[in-house]
Amino acid sequence: MNHDAKLPQIKADDSSPLEDKQAMLAAIIASTDDTIVSKTLEGIITSWNPAAERMFGYTEAEAVGQHISLIIPHDRLDEETFIIRQVKKGEKVDHFKTIRRKKNGDLIPISLTVSPIRNNSGKIIGASKIARDISEQEEAYEKQAMLAAIVATSDDAIVSKTIKGIITSWNPAAERLFGYSEKEAIGKHISLIIPPDRLGEEDMIISNITKGKKIDHFETMRMTKDGRQIPISLTISPILSPTGEIIGASKVARDISDKKAASEKQAVLAAIVGTSDDTILSKTLDGIITSWNKAAERMFGYTEEEAIGQHISLIIPPDRLEEETYIISEVRKGNKIDHFQTLRLAKDGKLIPISLSVSPVLDNSGKIVGASKIARDISAEQATQHEITKLYEQLKELNAKKDEFIGLASHELKTPLTSINGYLQIVAQRMTDEKNKIFLQKAQQQVVKLSSLVNDLLDVSKIQAGKLRFAIHQFNIRDVVEDAIELISQSNNNYEIILKTSVSNLVIMGDAHRIEQVIINLLTNAIRYSPGKDRIEVYLIQETNEIKVGVKDFGIGISPEKLGDIFSRFYRVDDTNANVSGLGIGLYLCHEIITRHKGRVWAESEPKKGSTFWFVLPCLADL
Ligand code: ADP
Repeated sequence: MNHDAKLPQIKADDSSPLEDKQAMLAAIIASTDDTIVSKTLEGIITSWNPAAERMFGYTEAEAVGQHISLIIPHDRLDEETFIIRQVKKGEKVDHFKTIRRKKNGDLIPISLTVSPIRNNSGKIIGASKIARDISEQEEAYEKQAMLAAIVATSDDAIVSKTIKGIITSWNPAAERLFGYSEKEAIGKHISLIIPPDRLGEEDMIISNITKGKKIDHFETMRMTKDGRQIPISLTISPILSPTGEIIGASKVARDISDKKAASEKQAVLAAIVGTSDDTILSKTLDGIITSWNKAAERMFGYTEEEAIGQHISLIIPPDRLEEETYIISEVRKGNKIDHFQTLRLAKDGKLIPISLSVSPVLDNSGKIVGASKIARDISAEQATQHEITKLYEQLKELNAKKDEFIGLASHELKTPLTSINGYLQIVAQRMTDEKNKIFLQKAQQQVVKLSSLVNDLLDVSKIQAGKLRFAIHQFNIRDVVEDAIELISQSNNNYEIILKTSVSNLVIMGDAHRIEQVIINLLTNAIRYSPGKDRIEVYLIQETNEIKVGVKDFGIGISPEKLGDIFSRFYRVDDTNANVSGLGIGLYLCHEIITRHKGRVWAESEPKKGSTFWFVLPCLADL
C-alpha cells in the first residue's frame, strides 16, 4: 500500500490557516505508527488510518461505515457501552488496556485512549480512538513477573546490590538464611552479612564484577543476624543497565552446612577405615573392588592400586568361588552376613582363615549398589581353638584312663580283701583268748569298711562303663528300710534311729540290695555329718503310686549353693567336713541307683540345723 498516495495534498497557496492546520493533522494521522480511528456516538466507524489497517487487517474501505464491534471480541462488547458513556459525558478514557480482534481472528492486546469529538458548536458527535499494540510490553511484564516469582520462591538466597555494595533486593530465602527481613536489609551495605575478617573478599568480588566477570561457587562464610557464621557457596553475576553498563551485582547464596557436615563425617569415616586393624573393602554388585584399606593391603599383600578395579575373585580360592554368588545374592536382598568363616587367598598364594561380615551399601536413594566387607584374620583364634580341642581330647583320654585305673585298682584290692576277710574269720573261730578277740573284731570291722569303700569304687567304675546291673524283683520296702536301720544301729549304738511310718507292708519293684545300699549310704552320711548328735529320723511315706523315703539328721547341714552339686561324682563340700574323710562317691551312687529305678533323689538342708535326704520310687515301675 502506498501511504503517500493517501496523504491529502497540502495546498501551497490560497489556503486558509484552518485548512492548513487540518491538512497537517490529516498528514500526521496518515503517517503515525499509532492506530487512530474515529466513530460516531452510535459506534459507526468514520475514519480509519493506515496504522489501523496494519493493526487490524481491514482496509479503510472495509472498515469505514461498519460498526466498531467489528474489532471487539464478543465478551468485551460491554466495554464499548462503558467507553461511549464516558465520551458522552465529555470525558477522556486514558490508557485503557484491553484486547481487540483482527480480521484474521487473532486477538491483540492494546492500550486505548479515547477522546470525545465535538462539532463547531461544541456538541459531542463522536469519539477518536488511539490504540497502541502492547504485546511486547505485556510479554516483558509477564517475564518480569515470572522472574520475580522464581526469586521469591527460590530456596537459594538471592540478593542484589549496587556497585557500591548497597543492598537493593533481598528475597525470602535470604531472610531465612541470614535472619534479616527485606526491610532491614535493603539500603544497608552488604558488609552487614560479611564476617569482619572476610571484608577483603568483598573488594575482590567487586573488582571481578566491575570487569564483568562472574564468580562461580565461591565457598565462604557469612554472618547471620544472630551472629552465627554459616558456610555458603556464592555465585555472583554483574547486573547490566539497558545500555550495557555494569550497575550492580546479583548474588545467589546456598547454605552448604549440610554438605560441609557430610564431608566432615566422611573424612572421619575415611580416617577410621584407613587406620582400622580390620580389613575393610567394598565392591560393586558385580564384584568389582571399589575400596581397599591399609589393613587389606597387609592381609592380602595387594596394594590399593593393584586391588581397586579388580574382581573380588582376586582373593577367593577357586574352590570357594560359589560363596561369592551366595554372598551377593544375600546382599541384593538387603541382608547382612555376620561372621562367616572362610578362607581367602593372599598375593603370595597363602590361604588365610578369616571371619567375614558383609553389609549392603546403599546410595542416597536407598538403592543397594554394592557391598562392604570386614574381614578378620582368625588364624590365631583357630590355632587356640585347635589347641583347646586337643587338650580336651587329652583330658577325655586321661579321664578314661583314670576310670579304668579305678576299676582295675578296686578289682585288684577286692581279691586280697576277700582273702583277709576269710582268714580273719578262720582266726576268729580258733581264737580262745577273749582279750585278743576284741582286737580281731576291730580288725574285722575295718575290713568291712574297706570292703565297702572298694565296692563303692567298683560300682562307680561299673557305672562309667555302663555295666552296673540290677536284679529286679518284688520286695517289701518296709523290710528293706528296717534292715538298713538295724545294720547301721548295730555299729553306731550311740545314735537312736527312729522309723516314722504308717506303712506296714508295701511291695514294690526293684533291686532290694541296691535300695538298701542307698538307705545305708544316707544313714551313714547322716551319722558322719552330725557329730555330737544322737538322733536320726527315717520316714517311709506312701503316696499315690509312689513311696517316699526320708533320712533326717540334726547335723552340720549344707549351704544352699552347694546343694545342687552334692550328687556329682567325687564332689565333697570341703569347708564343712574337714574332719570327715570320704571319697565323694556315696551320693553319686545313690543318685544313679534311684534314677535307674525311675525315681528321684534330693536334699533339703539348713546349715547348722541339719539335712533331710529324700528319695521317691514308683511302686510298680516297669524296670
Ligand atoms: P562323702 O560323704 O564320702 O564325702 P558323699 O557323696 O556321700 O561323699 O557326700 C558328698 C558330700 O555331701 C559330702 O562330702 C558332704 O559334704 C555332703 N553331705 C552328704 N550328706 C550330708 C549330710 N547328711 N549332712 C551334711 N553334708 C552332707
